[in-house]
Amino acid sequence: MQTKVLLNDKIVEMNQATVSILDRGYQFGDGVYEVIRFYNGEFFELLSHLERFKKSCEEIGIPFHFDLNTLQIDFNNLLKSANFPSGYLYTQITRGTMQRNHLYVHEKNLEPQLVAYTVKEEQRPFENMTNGIKVLLCEDIRWLRCDIKSLNLLGSVMLKNQAASLDAKEAVLHRNGYITEGSATNVFIVKDGKLLTHPANNLILNGITRQVIISIANELDIEVVDEAFTINEFRLAVEAFTSATVSEICPIVKFIENNNEFQIGNGQRGPITEIIQNAYTKKINSESDLFNPNVTRS
Ligand code: PLP
Repeated sequence: MQTKVLLNDKIVEMNQATVSILDRGYQFGDGVYEVIRFYNGEFFELLSHLERFKKSCEEIGIPFHFDLNTLQIDFNNLLKSANFPSGYLYTQITRGTMQRNHLYVHEKNLEPQLVAYTVKEEQRPFENMTNGIKVLLCEDIRWLRCDIKSLNLLGSVMLKNQAASLDAKEAVLHRNGYITEGSATNVFIVKDGKLLTHPANNLILNGITRQVIISIANELDIEVVDEAFTINEFRLAVEAFTSATVSEICPIVKFIENNNEFQIGNGQRGPITEIIQNAYTKKINSESDLFNPNVTRS
């Protein structure tokens, strides 16, 4: 499907959006990215994603010479050029083009390249949200700066494919006996009526969905403990779920470990997960109502 592409500050046709093969994103995965959901023609949590985009750039020393207000306008224009109301926007910034060399610090003429495009996703993932998913438990083989939303996704790509080959939807990762996150999601468990999730440090990406869930839980007086929990606590959890922008909040109902399949809790979506999902849906609806010019407010 053809969609328009934002290439730096211009919206062009997909086939006109070209980048050199010497771009460092292509050669080294030297860049960062974001995935931003939109519902009913309005972005969800746009500013939080843009701030994380900027922070990821800063962490790897790519000068972020994009103004956040201008980016919001450009992204909204790109969204208007798409003829579908619901989906997600993918965007990446790479360090720029030069002769292939690990070293870039002496390069004076590097121009970071920004690319963005939209993908249609009409339906929210209701089936997984309701029936839950099976995951594969495995060793976290990724690097130690998972807080950066880097284009280098080989570890996650390998793990997610390993999970898929066993008919599992996600790989839930552990390092030194503690659950970190999923290959492309954050992970929560419910224990003693509290939500547990790995603290936002270098071992996980601090998901925007994760942050929304924490603030929802605070509003609902559900205690959140952001302390790492063990593999065994995961195995024994009464409820568990993953969170991410596109896959949203999915109950984990089964897991595979050492080729055996086990159940989480009673093998069905749990009540706390459902409460959080409902509050998340309310937030999506209220934010898109708020900005949707077609909705008349009383
Ligand atoms: N953790 C990892 C490793 C991810 O790749 C992602 C999303 O791509 C997330 C967590 C969830 O982040 P967000 O909620 O911002 O989509």
